[in-house]
Amino acid sequence: MTYLSGSDAVTDRHGGGAILDTTVNRAPSVSGEESERIRRFLDHERPATPCLAVDLAVVRDRYSRLRAELPEARICYAVKANPDPRVVAELVRLGASFDVASPGEIELCLRQGAPAGRISYGNTIKKPGDIARAHQWGVGLFATDSTADLENIAAAAPGAAVFCRVAVDNTGSRTPFGRKFGCTPADAVRLLRYARDLGLVPHGVSFHIGSQQLAAEAWEHGIAAAAEAMCDPAVPADGVRMINLGGGLPATYTQPTPGLHEYTEVIEDALRRHFGDRRPEVLLEPGRYLVGDAGVLRSEVVLVSADSAGEGRWVYLDAGRYNGLAETEGEAITYRLRTSRDGDPLGPVVLAGPTCDGDDVLYQRSGYELPTTLRGGDTIDLLSAGAYTASYSSVCFNGFEPLSTRCFDSAETTERA
Ligand SMILES: *Cc1c(COP(=O)(O)O)cnc(C)c1O
Repeated sequence: MTYLSGSDAVTDRHGGGAILDTTVNRAPSVSGEESERIRRFLDHERPATPCLAVDLAVVRDRYSRLRAELPEARICYAVKANPDPRVVAELVRLGASFDVASPGEIELCLRQGAPAGRISYGNTIKKPGDIARAHQWGVGLFATDSTADLENIAAAAPGAAVFCRVAVDNTGSRTPFGRKFGCTPADAVRLLRYARDLGLVPHGVSFHIGSQQLAAEAWEHGIAAAAEAMCDPAVPADGVRMINLGGGLPATYTQPTPGLHEYTEVIEDALRRHFGDRRPEVLLEPGRYLVGDAGVLRSEVVLVSADSAGEGRWVYLDAGRYNGLAETEGEAITYRLRTSRDGDPLGPVVLAGPTCDGDDVLYQRSGYELPTTLRGGDTIDLLSAGAYTASYSSVCFNGFEPLSTRCFDSAETTERA
């Protein structure tokens, strides 16, 4: 991938030479103007780096695009993508619901004013005590995918509504879930029946087709798997009312992504085909899509070293694997970059973080090129870095502070933070 200055334009040689050129700029979710606004905020505020700046106006924009595309769906923001209280508060104000994974995330949502009835406990792995706390706080909807968890829910949250997560193929996802979650459609039917026997309300079926899912057709497979369980004659018919389409909608990294409408067309078409006019309530759990493009992570070049063995140039940033850039593991997520020397000639680089850990290397195979004039003190902005950065940052590895977040609202002139 060649990074071209100024315009968010990239060409991508990822995956062995395929030139994916600048189609990324034509994807409807991309707006150079959005990251320019965040740049102006950062240039004006000059926060200590590394720092994630989040524009709440972009979060609002993504929420309303999704709302417009799927007007009847309930949008549950997956809090783990960016748990900044101001992001959560903005989404509460917009009327969003929330997908949470722990009592900590529930408390965060409640504190920001989310009614308990708008919170879905989407983690299938939870302690009985955590289920009990959620229940005490009024949360009444739980995900499950195993008998053991279902029995814990029945004991700690009697009468709650449950939905069962089916495992689906994650092909096309940049960060797939592997085999950690979900059961077969046949097991989902069994679990939903058992839920009813345990006095719970079998509410529906969910799936997650993998995060940063670049293949819109993936939802067809997910909806087919959910429908296989939901349309089984053995499922408790009066209790299965909801299909939960999970997350997976993309943010804008170096690979081109389908536009939002391409995803929602596949979704609408699959719902129509599998359910006809007996369409269940639809839930979505976007994380990355709502907040990814809303953030820019500003980092500073610590130093640049030329390898005398001819292995090239190493550019060390003050942001790395342990203070925000966890998703560079395996080079799964390739952020678009903007530097303070854009416009100068480009040359290949290896990008690495600041810690004393050999794994703290961001990109050495993805073909990044950066200005040859870069040196210590210059800034590098990682664009569309609003998701899974601050929330993945370690406490203080090697004495480096966790990534800090500055929220602002470009629709206002003053910062809220
Ligand atoms: C992480 C997660 C999401 C959000 O996924 P994105 O790819 O960020 O949209 C949604 N649902 C569940 C259950 C999750 O674990």
